[in-house]
Amino acid sequence: MSDTFPTHARVVIIGGGVIGCSIAYHLAELGWTDVVLLERKQLTSGTTWHAAGLLTTLRDTETQTRLAKYTQDLYRRLEAETGQATGIIPCGSVQLAKTIEKANEMRRGLHMAASFGVEAREISPEEVRSLWPLAQVADLAAAFHFPNDARVNPGDVTRALAKGARQRGVRIYEHTKVTGIRQQNGRVTGVETDRGAIEAEIVVNCAGMWARAVGRMAGVNVPLQAAEHYYLVSEPIEGLHPLLPILRDPGNSAYIREEAGKIMVGLFEAEARPWGLDGIPDDFEFGEITPDWERVSPVIEQAMSRVPILYETGIRLLFCGPESFTPDHNYLMGEAPNLKNFFVAAGFNSLGILSGGGVGHVMARWIVDGHPPMDVWSVNLRRTHPWQDNSRFLADRIVEALGIGYQDHWPARQWSTARNVRKTVLHDRVAAAGACFGEGAGWERPNWYATAGETPAYRYGWGRDNNWFMPSAREHEAVRERVGLFEQSSFAKLLVQGRDAVTVLNRLSTANVDVAVGRCVYTQFLNERGGIEADITITRLASDRFLILTAAFTQTHVESWIRNHIPADAFAVVTDISQAYAMLNIQGPNARALLQALSEDDLSHAAFPFGSAREIRLGYQTVLAIRLTYVGELGFELYIPTGFALPVYDAILAEGSRHGLQHCGYHALNTLRIEKAYREWAHDIGPDDSPIVSGLAFTCAYDKAGGFIGRDALLREREAGLPKRRLVQLRFDDPDAFAYHNEPLYRDGERVGFVTSAGYGHTLGACTAMAYVGHSDGVDEAFIHSGRFEVQLAEGRRTVTPALKPLYDPTNERIRR
Ligand SMILES: Cc1cc2nc3c(=O)[nH]c(=O)nc-3n(C[C@H](O)[C@H](O)[C@H](O)COP(=O)(O)OP(=O)(O)OC[C@H]3O[C@@H](n4cnc5c(N)ncnc54)[C@H](O)[C@@H]3O)c2cc1C
Repeated sequence: MSDTFPTHARVVIIGGGVIGCSIAYHLAELGWTDVVLLERKQLTSGTTWHAAGLLTTLRDTETQTRLAKYTQDLYRRLEAETGQATGIIPCGSVQLAKTIEKANEMRRGLHMAASFGVEAREISPEEVRSLWPLAQVADLAAAFHFPNDARVNPGDVTRALAKGARQRGVRIYEHTKVTGIRQQNGRVTGVETDRGAIEAEIVVNCAGMWARAVGRMAGVNVPLQAAEHYYLVSEPIEGLHPLLPILRDPGNSAYIREEAGKIMVGLFEAEARPWGLDGIPDDFEFGEITPDWERVSPVIEQAMSRVPILYETGIRLLFCGPESFTPDHNYLMGEAPNLKNFFVAAGFNSLGILSGGGVGHVMARWIVDGHPPMDVWSVNLRRTHPWQDNSRFLADRIVEALGIGYQDHWPARQWSTARNVRKTVLHDRVAAAGACFGEGAGWERPNWYATAGETPAYRYGWGRDNNWFMPSAREHEAVRERVGLFEQSSFAKLLVQGRDAVTVLNRLSTANVDVAVGRCVYTQFLNERGGIEADITITRLASDRFLILTAAFTQTHVESWIRNHIPADAFAVVTDISQAYAMLNIQGPNARALLQALSEDDLSHAAFPFGSAREIRLGYQTVLAIRLTYVGELGFELYIPTGFALPVYDAILAEGSRHGLQHCGYHALNTLRIEKAYREWAHDIGPDDSPIVSGLAFTCAYDKAGGFIGRDALLREREAGLPKRRLVQLRFDDPDAFAYHNEPLYRDGERVGFVTSAGYGHTLGACTAMAYVGHSDGVDEAFIHSGRFEVQLAEGRRTVTPALKPLYDPTNERIRR
């Protein structure tokens, strides 16, 4: 530790756990050495010191798997580089499945992980037995061996990272508590500590379970909550050795590993208990929580069934320590949406050690380059919402979040805790119509509708084996053949107004939004690298007033993207009007006839062409109608002032029966849009995908005055010739095949990409999907239409027919009539 306390640093990192030290290490590696790390007590004294140190690579998401893989590679070389041992033991791991469903889920994960170089293979129960002679394997449906997984000593890893950082010039101050965050004009300017203030260009909040409190010092929302987290260590048992692989046993909510001649059993119980609800005690340092034997005994009992000798051996230690969890079980990384240069990396859901290296790498590059080195949306802080900084919500949700990683990850699985945060004004009406709700950005949204004899509650399952496949098929068919009503009031609605609104939005948009009043423009916002940051529509309501529509889950990101790009001298303001309007989306060949029967305004194609927006009278009310579609049919989105919403809904319903109106949910919306190859941001397109590779270059007005952000990158990409990667649509040849997400795609036996989204194309009669196809010589029609394409499913490879044009209505005839 240096003697003189600094008054200035380029970067101040708050928190000396594995995450803070890893970011410091990686910043220094990139040559940023004017970095100060502040730790209120001692390094590792928060959560890091008591972690079990598992380094297992296969995670729930692609991003988390990639970061875990990077971490493993880093920890292997850290000792040689820094001279500090990390205690790494290359023991490998074995994942165990007790049911066929879980086995198939793991097989899918295995194929996905292979795309990132994670080595794994399926093994028989007998092989599990030979790797772990004390394990009971009679109940196994399948098992998977990951030979490169390992375990480490988390304290030593952190000390190695800190040492590596120090060796390159980072200054670390222990016993220094950050007490305030300084900011000016929306930008962080430094920190206050109990030893004095430090000016800084960049501040990084890596304060673990204190990160929410540190975020509050800066007015930044960091929604996380600590929970009790347990492991036990047995008395010594003969015949154990350190190279016994880690057993991950989700069916028993547990992992098991050797620990110095004993067995360690870690618990991920389905119902956890939050901790520190009144705030984390100030004196917490290398702390423990008194275990609640009564609560966890049944979980321990079940976990022990995997290695029954544990029933005979005593428990030497039952350890309980706090770890922070997030509402969606993904961690929180990145720059705050509302405070420039204030970064966050926290909420690791008991994956902080195994993700720590990758997180340090991504965060350091993000800080240095101004953007992350890969698409990390699923862990981006900007996916969170201000309302989530609510103690009661967090406490209730965290009960479920701790164990979710060890549960079955069914398609469409919903959270069962902390629901009913946001309800639209039409909620009770659609509930009465049979809606089964799912949560999206806190909103309760109809995902599918039950009819007589069906219960509007999820029964999960893969493929057709659930209770929503058929209702959703019904809805899909109604939209194609008659007309469907989608309740989409959860849509985020932003008004951008002012003299310079058009200039600001035109600079952000690929399309030209300087259009006539009453036109609606489909466009993307790009980053400087040409990657897609937003996929939205912009409607010109007046010469100086625009309505931006985007999915609810992207609101924080899109809103902050616009705000952060308004030049200081520009006259343009953003207002969130999401809750002022309900939205009913009427789609299908009978949509016009239905609405025309209720409106005195002319809704004909001539008077109301595709892409136009008008205020129309509907019943006694006036609503904003926009002629658009996300399902590939004739349709109108109706933006209804909230006070008008119920009567408008009632009027549409009353008239609807004459036109075959059907309530439709988000599952049908998804299958319809995939069948029409409409992209979804965060699935098919994102910050690493340009409009060129994703087939959206038609939105780009390259020659408009003032250009747009990302244009130069696109021009370079265009000049480079044939794209090396392209988004294609796929239709499975086997009508019983089901894909979901991330399945690898092969061409003539060679892996060329992966599925980005998939759903059953009820009109096309088979599962349809979208996937990126890569080829070093470029991807064109000839490449797509030659070769045999197959998707790797859990049960084997299945052939698919690829297409660059939508397989459903490629000429848009159904939309423009
Ligand atoms: C029982 C248990 C087992 C686990 N097992 C594993 C495992 O096997 N594998 C795995 O990957 N993960 C595991 N974890 C999770 C892992 O320990 C955490 O995810 C990880 O340690 C989080 O690191 P961190 O740096 O974010 O937080 P911390 O280690 O808590 O570091 C944050 C630091 O910030 C400091 N700080 C807070 N406020 C301030 C302030 N105002 N000023 C200055 N400093 C401040 C704190 O003192 C603390 O040291 C386990 C956790 C538990 C509880």
